Amino acid sequence: MIIVRYGEIAVKGGKRREFERKLAGNIEKALKRRGIEGRAEVIRGRILVDAPDNAAEIIAKVPGVVSVSPAKVMPYEEVPKYLKEALKGLTPRSFKVETQRLDKTFLKTSVEVNKEIGAFVVKEFGWKVDLENPELTIGIEIINGKAYVFFEKIRGVGGLPVGTQGKVVVLLSGGIDSPVAAFLMLKRGAEVIAVHFDQGKNARKVVEKVVEILNDYSPEPIELIVENHFEILKPYVIALNKLNGREWTCVVCKVAMLRRAAEIAKENGALGIVTGDSLGQVASQTLTNLYFETMSVDFPVHRPLLGFDKEEIVSIARKIKTYDAFLEYPYCDCPFRPERVVTQGKLEEFEKIRAELKKEGVI
Ligand code: ATP
Ligand code: MG
Repeated sequence: MIIVRYGEIAVKGGKRREFERKLAGNIEKALKRRGIEGRAEVIRGRILVDAPDNAAEIIAKVPGVVSVSPAKVMPYEEVPKYLKEALKGLTPRSFKVETQRLDKTFLKTSVEVNKEIGAFVVKEFGWKVDLENPELTIGIEIINGKAYVFFEKIRGVGGLPVGTQGKVVVLLSGGIDSPVAAFLMLKRGAEVIAVHFDQGKNARKVVEKVVEILNDYSPEPIELIVENHFEILKPYVIALNKLNGREWTCVVCKVAMLRRAAEIAKENGALGIVTGDSLGQVASQTLTNLYFETMSVDFPVHRPLLGFDKEEIVSIARKIKTYDAFLEYPYCDCPFRPERVVTQGKLEEFEKIRAELKKEGVI
């Protein structure tokens, strides 16, 4: 049996039941995809999953899950007998008992259970009690008259269940940043459609791997839409060449991607586009450029990493393992990048380019 705790969604008032049901369903789907049949049932602010212990790691990655504990269920009276067996051979420097009574009809309070079970362990094993910093914590949760006993709490990703916040299109580039942006959206409960503009390079392989890794956080496999970057960009580049504006390539390239992404979003009922931009991280990610890019697409663009430092992004990428995909293939520079890139472009110049793009029927 596995105990699943969820935080944020418990305070969502009227939405609570819908959220709980979604989370339980997402947990079942995550297990099923890995060949584990497990029923997830919402009981008194917990989700109890009838599945083997190795399901815990899978469940910990389901957005909305705060923590997970593989547990044994028994009538309260049998807890001492169980502990006598389960703890045999262990030699912790100290321990404590931590009880939560989710079922207030149970006659003992959690403090009474702590004392009673703690005294038993001291008598049986002679271990020292340390309430501040114990080496071993014996967890007990009382749910529907039964005791659930566990020794570990695996941290979950937190956030909200996927499917409670609508859908977004995430632009995945094959770099380190955009997979982190995608993960953060999944973590906040949004369904994700991935879009990659393929240049026939390794980036596509990285993206395919990234999607596979991100699937651990998504109840349904993430759909990956691959577009031909050359085709999407071609009319824009032709217009730019006419204007002798090669240094605008990076900005205009982003405009091309965002506009195509907006079409894809509309076709798929998504309500926003998400990118991995982080302010000032590279020369092209200036506020000016982001302004031009956003003003050129008639659709919401979200940039969850805008205020993150590179180290912060890398540290998340390592934690969620998308960094591994990036390391697997040698990095390729963009073939379109001109020698000089506009970083603080003038609005008048940008408007000239836009007028030309309009004239050419590109936008
Ligand atoms: P990343 O690490 O995600 O590649 P980056 O720091 O390299 O980001 P840019 O290359 O300037 O930044 O791209 C900014 C954002 O534009 C990316 O985070 C991604 O969301 C999107 N993007 C860039 N190139 C592509 C591409 N080929 N396909 C899809 N999206 C892209
Ligand atoms: Mg990139």
